[in-house]
Amino acid sequence: MSRTLRPGDAGYDEARRVFNGMIDRRPALIVQCADEADVAAAVTQARERSLEVAVRGGGHNVAGNAVCDGGLVIDLSRMRGVEVDPVRRRARVQGGATWGDFDTATQAHGLATPGGVVSSTGVAGLTLGGGIGVLRGLYGLTCDSLIAAELVTASGERVSASADENSDLLWGLRGGGGNFGVVTSFEFALHPLGSVVSGLIDFAYSRDFLKFYDEFTGGAPDELAFDLVVHRSPDAESVASVFACFCGPDEAAAPVFDRLRSRFAPLRDGLATRSYVESQRMLDATSPWGLRNYWKTNAMGPLTPAAIEAFDEVFMSAKSPASQVQLEHLHGALHRTPPGANAASFAGAKYNLLVNAKWTDAGRDEENIRWARDGFAVLQPHLGSGAYANYLVNEPRERVRQAYGAETYDRLVALKDRYDPANVFRLNQNIEPTAPVL
Ligand SMILES: Cc1cc2nc3c(=O)[nH]c(=O)nc-3n(C[C@H](O)[C@H](O)[C@H](O)COP(=O)(O)OP(=O)(O)OC[C@H]3O[C@@H](n4cnc5c(N)ncnc54)[C@H](O)[C@@H]3O)c2cc1C
Repeated sequence: MSRTLRPGDAGYDEARRVFNGMIDRRPALIVQCADEADVAAAVTQARERSLEVAVRGGGHNVAGNAVCDGGLVIDLSRMRGVEVDPVRRRARVQGGATWGDFDTATQAHGLATPGGVVSSTGVAGLTLGGGIGVLRGLYGLTCDSLIAAELVTASGERVSASADENSDLLWGLRGGGGNFGVVTSFEFALHPLGSVVSGLIDFAYSRDFLKFYDEFTGGAPDELAFDLVVHRSPDAESVASVFACFCGPDEAAAPVFDRLRSRFAPLRDGLATRSYVESQRMLDATSPWGLRNYWKTNAMGPLTPAAIEAFDEVFMSAKSPASQVQLEHLHGALHRTPPGANAASFAGAKYNLLVNAKWTDAGRDEENIRWARDGFAVLQPHLGSGAYANYLVNEPRERVRQAYGAETYDRLVALKDRYDPANVFRLNQNIEPTAPVL
């Protein structure tokens, strides 16, 4: 049975807290659902009382879309079950599970699906926006492995989506976000996976290192995931941290990592053979809840000399020592899904750029947000088309449209018109219905 929290109740403040410390919203009701029937009842209650609705999976969304001021939060954090069928290589997971829950359950059978790299990130929000994980070169985006979902729509109806039933809705759930209803369960295809070779390897940051990174990623095998995070160390060194994960045998990893170390000597080298579950928790400590966050993002092509200059200018002007500029390398299977096959796509992009302002002092909000925005403007001439919906923060409709591309966006609008014409689910990267029916 669901549990409802109101302002002043024990647990209310904990339940309204999300990853981004800037978000301080006070919902009228937080409904902690135990099952699908609770979700349907919560949707009906919100509609009958004309309350704004927020849906909470793992609470990681930096825009703070998991909570609202004065409305009703449908909180799925009690719905975290994961059932694995090792014979069919399938997992069914409830809408509030985290990647930590998912990876632990599936790895017990030597299986995995591409998921997020921090264990407290929600399966739901990440999958519905696309999902970039270390298995992307081998198996594509997370949503490429999504084969079915159950959801409660804005009318309170329970709907299934799969290749055989409402296949257009399944297409929309593969990247179109939480626009079409509350997903109560997902079914994923699983892939065999043993141990991995992974870790953080730090280099002294320089423009030459960026050039080398671009050359190195050009030859990356599908097994290798590579994320570059440029930041300052506690000693104020400028550091290029590479989070690398080779999802294949140790013998095949060794020559790849020898090549990585061949040009610049690492400052610190944390690469080791680990279980996938351990690897998937390695970044938890460096991603604490409660920091203030503001992100700008876009797809990006290879690093031209002018792009490297711009990247350098942006990083060097960061206002907070915690801020970062990131390049997630996109390759392999992620590019083999034909454009338009799913709502999320990184067709033609070599990197996912993230200008990631992070700080602690509320009095410095403005300068940090301005840094991310101005930095993004400096990088703009070097960016490609399209952006990752899950990293967008409070962007206007035109930007959401541009992120998806006009054709995909228009298909998503058609789905929105069908499943949520009154835009009940609007606290997300919103796909606005053609004419909101109120
Ligand atoms: C520390 C950190 C690490 C991250 N790592 C990665 C990564 O490795 N790869 C990657 O691709 N992204 C990553 N992200 C981005 C992440 O994918 C998004 O922030 C995503 O929205 C988080 O999902 P959530 O369920 O935790 O978020 P929430 O804030 O709970 O939800 C976000 C939105 O998703 C929708 N939603 C959530 N649950 C449901 C549901 N059950 N049904 C319908 N809609 C729902 C709602 O619209 C909600 O507003 C990371 C973010 C952070 C902060």
